[in-house]
Amino acid sequence: MNIILFGPPAAGKGTQAKKLVSERSLIQLSTGDMLRAARASGTELGKKVAGIMDRGDLVSDEIVIALIEEQIELNPAAKGFIFDGFPRTVAQAEALDLLLTQHNTKVHSVIRLCVDDEALLTRVTKRFKEEGRKDDNPESFKVRLANYNSQTALLLPYYSTQGKLTEVDGMADVATVSTAVSKVLGKNDNGSGFSAAVVKKGFFARLFGK
Ligand code: AMP
Repeated sequence: MNIILFGPPAAGKGTQAKKLVSERSLIQLSTGDMLRAARASGTELGKKVAGIMDRGDLVSDEIVIALIEEQIELNPAAKGFIFDGFPRTVAQAEALDLLLTQHNTKVHSVIRLCVDDEALLTRVTKRFKEEGRKDDNPESFKVRLANYNSQTALLLPYYSTQGKLTEVDGMADVATVSTAVSKVLGKNDNGSGFSAAVVKKGFFARLFGK
């Protein structure tokens, strides 16, 4: 099963993705995490995207699609993927459809975590203090939110016309949101659950030359 966790920055996509990984043996693919790893390891790609990310702008479709393609190729036996922070543009959504079709699969479910702007700002301000992520500063956050509204939100009609979109109240606490997400996805198709899948070891080493 392939799931997209959808929502604005700080909506809780990463938190819910990690829960699904441990419950359903799916592989989380977070383009934000991949790009931060590239930066942390000081690769050319990392250097190229650093300024863009810190400003809160979107990295090019070409780069993020290549990251996702690589991961799909590296995990042929995956039970499914949780896409977290991808796709963010219509071009990315179309590329994802094509990639999955080439692997005889598709996007099964898109879950939108609905959180109002004021709550997002409160969350991101807290995270900025706790984790010091540069793009969580108020100026960059404003840009990220604007990009979400102008580009990423266009994907809502894209997926709703396909009958794949479900909205979940993302304002509730983590456990309540998780219960709601599970309800949308139905029974855990892993049976016993709890065999966490991880992104293949060595991926970053191969991709970023480290
Ligand atoms: P995130 O952790 O998902 O909030 O992503 C952090 C930053 O990485 C974003 O603000 C963008 O600069 C970049 N980024 C992550 N995913 C994408 C994507 N799918 N398309 C374009 N840029 C992305």
